[in-house]
Amino acid sequence: MSVRRRLVIGNWKMNGSKAENQQLLSDLVKLQNTAASGEEAAELAVCAPFPYLQQVADILKDSAIGWGGQDASEHASGAYTGEVSVAMLAEFGCAWAIVGHSERRAYHGESSDVVARKAAAAIAGGITPVVCVGETQAEREAGNTLQVISSQLEPVLALGADAVAKMVLAYEPVWAIGTGLTASPEQAQEVHAHIRGLLVQAGAPEQRILYGGSVKAANAASLFAKEDIDGALVGGASLVATDFQGIASA
Ligand code: PGA
Repeated sequence: MSVRRRLVIGNWKMNGSKAENQQLLSDLVKLQNTAASGEEAAELAVCAPFPYLQQVADILKDSAIGWGGQDASEHASGAYTGEVSVAMLAEFGCAWAIVGHSERRAYHGESSDVVARKAAAAIAGGITPVVCVGETQAEREAGNTLQVISSQLEPVLALGADAVAKMVLAYEPVWAIGTGLTASPEQAQEVHAHIRGLLVQAGAPEQRILYGGSVKAANAASLFAKEDIDGALVGGASLVATDFQGIASA
């Protein structure tokens, strides 16, 4: 039996406003207070846009819900306009930072080496990186899915067992993100099992592997039923409190 506690993280992306966040988070806290608790309950967190982290911290500080950033700089400080350091995230109480999301890779040219350095910086600063990997539609159709995942993870796993033991990985097929096309539980499990094999080789076999890509309350249970799917990274559905809580309790 696995001892991995289910983990559900919301990725708000570039959504929200002070008023919307207030409503969403207070609804979530209320739902959490009436939901099952204890070790069987999922661990929950939300990754908000940077300017709202203080607001998120203020609302969630007495709750069981954690929070984090959607990215973190590989650099500690200095002339890096527009970047946010791990120490800054930590100062706002972040426990988590998403790194290597496919939108960062695609729109900001982040290579897997950069992603690995960001993961290392997060760990050094006491924040758990949620390292995202995933293939495009074309890569899947060409039969290259597992190869792509291996090569994206190579520099990350090369950080060594001690580092990997402080990470969460997320498998997010690019073709499933925001499209309503979820990977089937079997498609997801195939990749998760592959990642588990890489984690075993890296000396950190029990790290959690989240699935992301159009996860909804309606499809979460069948994904979570798979052996190596330890939770979800949720975009769109994390913006509606009942949907997000529905996934958490699926
Ligand atoms: P989605 O996004 O749930 O809206 O598909 C997931 C993600 O990009 O993390």
